[in-house]
Amino acid sequence: RTRVGVLALQGDVREHAALLSGLGADVVPVRRPGELSSVDGLVIPGGESSVIDKLSRTFGMQQPIRDAIEAGLPVYGTCAGLILLADTVLDGIEGQESFGGMDIDVRRNAFGRQTESFETELSVPALGQAPVRATFIRAPIVERVGADVEVLASLADGTVVAVEQGSLLGTSFHPEVDGETRFHERFLAKARAVADAGMR
Ligand code: GLN
Repeated sequence: RTRVGVLALQGDVREHAALLSGLGADVVPVRRPGELSSVDGLVIPGGESSVIDKLSRTFGMQQPIRDAIEAGLPVYGTCAGLILLADTVLDGIEGQESFGGMDIDVRRNAFGRQTESFETELSVPALGQAPVRATFIRAPIVERVGADVEVLASLADGTVVAVEQGSLLGTSFHPEVDGETRFHERFLAKARAVADAGMR
């Protein structure tokens, strides 16, 4: 069984853990460097990116996570998790940092007060024909993607909301609240490949 972690500093950890368990993975909450080194993949949940950032530094997790990303650990970030994977965060709070790894600029809370949250259906060709039901909650958007980044989904107006770069996957929205499993399956496939190859 593939052993994956959910970064459990803040956010909707339980929803991700339940979904991943349902897909047959061994799931561990990750709060310490030792727990991080025991997994073949990591989910960074939605929540508040500035809080997860601060706690990761308090718990001595920022550098271990950066090192793991550099070493090729598959990571899937949703919403706040996507913000934490971005090399550049726009509209972060004073002093906010990210783990980085994806060559993207992400803007926090990009939909503003009028539309704090909404649902829509997205076409995500990489995941097959059936549309993805997507829930956005104080969601970020991807404002710039680097040359090595693949856009997996955009809104009708072209706003980029799902991206992939090598072992890293990120969505502005929360598939885990809609019972949408295909992003997590895609992440687990990456984790399995890394485990099988003994890459880590
Ligand atoms: N607005 C949040 C942030 O900056 C993200 C919201 C979410 O994860 N649902 O981190």
